[in-house]
Amino acid sequence: MTQLSDSVAALRSSFDTRKTRPEAWRRGQLQRLKAMIEENESAINQALHADLGKSGFEARMTETGTVLSEIRHTLSHLKGWMKPRKVSTPLANQPGRSRILPEPLGVVLIMSPWNYPVNLVLTPLIGAIAAGNCAVLKPSEISSNTAELLGRLIPAYMDPDAIRVIQGGPETSTELLEQRFDHIFFTGSEAIGKIVMTAAAKHLTPVTLELGGKSPCIIHEDCDLEVAARRVAWGKFLNAGQTCIAPDYVLVQEKVRDAFIDQLRASIEAFFGEDPKASPDYPRIVNERHFDRVAGLIADGDIAAGGETDRDIKFIAPTILTGVDPEAKVMQQEIFGPVLPIMTYRSIDEAVGFITARPRPLALYLFTNAQDIQDQVMAQTSSGGACINDVVMHLAIPELPFGGVGTSGMGAYHGRASFDTFSHAKAVLTKTSHLDVKLRYPPFSKIKLRLLKWFQ
Ligand code: NAD
Repeated sequence: MTQLSDSVAALRSSFDTRKTRPEAWRRGQLQRLKAMIEENESAINQALHADLGKSGFEARMTETGTVLSEIRHTLSHLKGWMKPRKVSTPLANQPGRSRILPEPLGVVLIMSPWNYPVNLVLTPLIGAIAAGNCAVLKPSEISSNTAELLGRLIPAYMDPDAIRVIQGGPETSTELLEQRFDHIFFTGSEAIGKIVMTAAAKHLTPVTLELGGKSPCIIHEDCDLEVAARRVAWGKFLNAGQTCIAPDYVLVQEKVRDAFIDQLRASIEAFFGEDPKASPDYPRIVNERHFDRVAGLIADGDIAAGGETDRDIKFIAPTILTGVDPEAKVMQQEIFGPVLPIMTYRSIDEAVGFITARPRPLALYLFTNAQDIQDQVMAQTSSGGACINDVVMHLAIPELPFGGVGTSGMGAYHGRASFDTFSHAKAVLTKTSHLDVKLRYPPFSKIKLRLLKWFQ
């Protein structure tokens, strides 16, 4: 056995002791996770800065703060979620009582990407713990400072019998995926998602895939262009565009295109000054490979703002592109960087048609005050989630399940959805032996058939 399979086997033995099942263990581990973040926030911030140039504010808003809110929400609802849920029992099975008992799945694998390397490891972990599972965490090797820090903190704070970190790149991941898990929760790209699902199929392991895609943003002529541009610029240039639900491209009503671009330029300058390279609030691209990929996309359009790059410090300015061909590379792949193509439409039907002709995105954004247009776009498009008159923020609503559809993923998490994802809903019917109606037993008769039809 390898060290890695030993680790998984050790967790399986712990799970079999049932130590992770009591509510007290789950609460205790969630409290430890909370303490881990609170006591090490500055070390976490430093690691995030070293990996991605994230400011302390952004680190709090999108990483540590998000995880802490999720822990709080989970602690306050855990008792209710763990309770058996009663459902009604039809007459044919009376006297009887039907319940749904949530039970933990076992040993789960959580594989995470580099763009929110704290949040995307720990938020799924909260769900796994809340549901009473053991977990193997595989942070991304690309955000190496954060991965190394989590590799030190997790064993120091969390129950080592139940939660372990495995470090490594594709080779380790491949070996890890050969093990049998009871669930795999993967966040990352579509390409690796397929590898994960193929590996999971060998053990019939269920998967949650949190993937990416091109999330469109419709700007309709009636909206408040100044607020819309500010929110779009914020959501797009947050983490320098390396956000799975960043608005990938804009579809703006033709008549207001120039006014919207002016407002976008003004927002970029208000956020990061005339020289975003000098702003302490503007992050960097994670590595040279991603820098080269994103910088290469700028040539696909006319630069309406930004365009500057500096490979030595992995800086790409907030960039707006116009005149982009829908067949160009920038419109064919998830951008995952600070480059925003602006396309135009004449009628809302045309915008809807453009979106529905493409793979279903992780998020869809729509800025309009017109109720009929809001209703039409929500009814005629499909996306993992959506925000009307804002971007990204639907992710921060704990009662909204977060996940993709089609190529943007399968399954969901956050709040109750996380608990459900990491639980099996066991269906239990309890009967009594005192009364045994003979209808279902042979020999059958016409009378029995008539009675059966009445019951069913
Ligand atoms: P990635 O798919 O390259 O990596 C994700 C994980 O898979 C990492 O832990 C990595 O080590 C592992 N991995 C890499 N190669 C592997 C292989 N050959 N076999 C097995 N495992 C392998 O993704 P990334 O570049 O880290 O992240 C960017 C992608 O993640 C984007 O597509 C983005 O949209 C998506 N994403 C989605 C969400 C979401 O919540 N839906 C959140 C963040 C990022």
